[in-house]
Formats: sequence, structure tokens, C-alpha cells
Amino acid sequence: MKTPVILFWFRRDLRLDDNGGLYQALKNASASGLSVQPLFIFDTTILDALTSRADKRVVFIHQAIERLQKELVSFGSTLDVRHGEPLAVFKALMDEYDVQAVYANRDYEPDARARDKLIYDYLGTQGVAFRAFKDHVVFEKNEVMKADGQPYTVFTPYSKKWLSLLNDFYLRSYPTISYIEAVHRQAERPIPTLQQLQFEPMNVTFPTKMLDLGVLDVYAEQRDYPALSATSRLGVHLRFGTVSIRQVASYAQVRSSVFLNELIWRDFYQMILWHHPQLVNQSFKPIYDQIVWRNQSSDFSKWCAGQTGYPLVDAGMRELNETGFMHNRVRMVVASFLTKHLLIDWRWGERYFAQKLLDYDLAANNGGWQWAAGCGCDAAPYFRVFNPTLQMKKFDPNGDYVRRWLPEFGTKDYPEPMVEHGMARERCLQTYAQALKNN
Ligand code: FAD
Repeated sequence: MKTPVILFWFRRDLRLDDNGGLYQALKNASASGLSVQPLFIFDTTILDALTSRADKRVVFIHQAIERLQKELVSFGSTLDVRHGEPLAVFKALMDEYDVQAVYANRDYEPDARARDKLIYDYLGTQGVAFRAFKDHVVFEKNEVMKADGQPYTVFTPYSKKWLSLLNDFYLRSYPTISYIEAVHRQAERPIPTLQQLQFEPMNVTFPTKMLDLGVLDVYAEQRDYPALSATSRLGVHLRFGTVSIRQVASYAQVRSSVFLNELIWRDFYQMILWHHPQLVNQSFKPIYDQIVWRNQSSDFSKWCAGQTGYPLVDAGMRELNETGFMHNRVRMVVASFLTKHLLIDWRWGERYFAQKLLDYDLAANNGGWQWAAGCGCDAAPYFRVFNPTLQMKKFDPNGDYVRRWLPEFGTKDYPEPMVEHGMARERCLQTYAQALKNN
């Protein structure tokens, strides 16, 4: 006879501890005499769309799954890991388990919402409930709204409201372990290897998930200097949920309001994407979609390869290509350079970052790119064009960061600037003005 279970479906929440949806699943199972079967799906719809078979994020997820498996085995349970399209996987699971309900944490990206709707509808036909919970953000969807009931589109008033609503309730942790007895017991099941998933195993060192409290103490003064290790590097962990946003925000609340402010940006962009899913392809300010981009492929290739002749831009792109990380200040500079100096559509740059960033997150990336291009909500005004040389003088005054990623900097092998700053700036201003005038 099949055991009645609640399935808990891990997605961007790859941890047992302080996991909102898992906590609810275990607690409800414990109260109703059921058990919770943990599930992870290597989703072929997502994996097949990746452009490289050597993808560090797949390695990261695989390692996180192995760690979850170890923990679950120590509690006499196992993670059931599948590889396929979620709908087909759920159809198979319904045959294998006596599924009473499916629990998961919410994902706010348009594709994820469409996927969840498909599963919700299918489970509905089987008389099985699909329950989703908040876990990925501190405040979601309509929790932080303007007085007139509309969502915010400007960050500063949003952040003020966010802070005014924050209290212990929103940062409390979910003690999953207190109900862990309700986990479904069965023998350990194998996890598909990276080769079976058709990805290359790679030796990658990922940033630690331990928040360095020392970083929080220097964050406000040093976070803009890419040569210093003064940011948390938690991006990838927050993206895949290997750390809890509530825990990180709790530390930030007492140690660094500047750091907390960055976590508010994270919530802000998730909220924006939730209310405006069209932003995946469109500018927040539609008039900016009238810009006639130059879109020169040869320019784009130089930018991607870190061969523009502007050291801060090139160092950033080399760091990204080699490690999957780029410092926030440098992300702003390279994004501005691509869209404004080269007049290449922000969507090209956004897609490139999506392929390369370890911490790639649709909401934050789209928000960051639209901000840099001037077409997003609360974006920098379009006529403010970063000067990449001055940015280097200000934020990498000794050239330490640049030399780390550009060994040929200062030698005859380093290229001349591919465009002259003054000319590029004027060209950008004219092009933007033209687009805005046409409407
Ligand atoms: P820290 O400075 O230590 O910040 C802590 C955490 O706060 C980050 O890990 C992140 O989760 C969040 N955070 C910080 N700044 C922002 C921000 N501006 N917007 C949203 N969340 C923020 N961040 C991503 O997580 N994924 C992306 O794909 C992404 N793409 C970006 C693209 C561009 C063009 C720009 C300008 C910024 C982008 N950012 C993105 C925001 C920011 O650059 C990164 O979050 C940060 O550099 C990650 O490093 P860290 O973990 O050391 O950050």
C-alpha cells in the first residue's frame, strides 16, 4: 500500500533550516498523521535552454542537492530527485505516491508562475491541493503598497514604507527541525550525476554561505570599491535559497542599515516583476523602446570579451567571464557603457549576464539593466552617462582591481579605447533625445 504523503517541492529554497513552506508542510503533516516527502526536479525546460553544458550554476545546485540529501538521510528520509518536465514528473509521482497535497515556496518570475499554474491545474483535476508560501523575500506582492493601494514604482518611498512595516514577525525563523519527525522515511534514492544531466562536472569554489559580520561593519564605507572584499558575496546563496533572507536581514537590521537597504532593493525588484511581468521584454517606460540602438555585433563581442580599451569595463567583464561574479559598482559601469557608449540594446547585455552570472536573478538583473539604460522604474536620468575613466579614478584609484583581471594593462598589448568618451556621450544623448521627441 502507498503511504499518504505531502510532497514538498524544493525550488529556489535549497535548505532545510528556516524554510517557510517546508515548515508548514511538516507542521501540517505532523498534525494530521501524514509525512512529508521532499522533492527536487532538475527541470529540463530550464536546463535545455542554458547555452553552455559547463554551467557553474548547475554545479552549484547539484552540490546543494547533495547536501540536502545528506541531511535528509541523517533523518531516515531521502530527497526524491527527478529529471524532466515538471508536469510529466508530477503525473509519474501521482502513480508512485498517495499524494495528499503539494507544498512549495513561491517563485515570482513569469515563467515560474506559468509552470506553477500548470501544476496547480493538473493537481486540481486529481483533487490534490497545491499550496505555496512566502519564503524568498521579506515582503512580497501587495504587502508594501502606497496609501492609494497601488504598488510603488519609486524605490525611496517604497523602502521607507518597507522599513515602517518591518517587525519581528516578518523576520522570525521557521524552526523546521522541531517537526522533522514528520519527514517521510524511505531508503536513500540516487541523485542523477551531472553527466546524466548532460552537464560537465567542474571544479568550482563558491563563495561561503556564512555571512561575514566584519563585512557588515565596513560595508557602508567600502562597498563601492571593487578591489576590497567589502560585500557579502551572498548573491548566489540568496538566489538559490541556500541561506534564508530572514536570517540575513535580521543581521543587517542590527549591524548595517546600508546593507539592509540593498536587501530592500532585492524585494523591490521582485515586487516590480510580480506586478509588471511584461518587463521581461519591455522597458518600464515604453517610450524608451523607441530608441534606435546601433546594435553592432562587433562592438558587442569586444564588450563581452573585455576588449573595449576602458580598463574598469574590461576588468569587470573578465572577472565575470572567469568567475561568474562582478562587483555591483562595476556592473553599473559595464551596463552603462554597453547601452550608452555603444548604444546596444540593454536586452543584449541582460541576456549575456543571464548566461554568466552565478547570482543571476531575473528580477534584479532586469531591474539593474533597465536602471543603467535609463528606461526602468526609478532609473538614473538618461542624460547621466557614467565616465568609465572617472569611475576608475574614483573607485579603483590605485588600479588594484583592474590589474587583478587585466595582466596586460599598461603594456602595448592593451587596446586603445574603442570609442572616445566625449563623442559617445554626445551620440547617446542625441539618440535618446530623438526617441523621446518622437513621442
Ligand atoms: P552585497 O552588496 O553584499 O548585497 C547583499 C545582497 O543584496 C545581494 O547578494 C543581493 O541579493 C542583494 N542586492 C544587492 N544589491 C542589489 C540590487 N541593486 N538589486 C537587487 N538586489 C541587490 N543582483 C542579483 O542578485 N542578481 C542579478 O542578476 C543581478 N544583476 C545585476 C545587473 C546589473 C546591471 C546591476 C547594476 C546589478 C545587478 N544585481 C544583481 C545587483 C547587485 O549588483 C548584486 O546583487 C551584487 O553585486 C551581488 O554581490 P553581493 O552578494 O556581494 O552583494
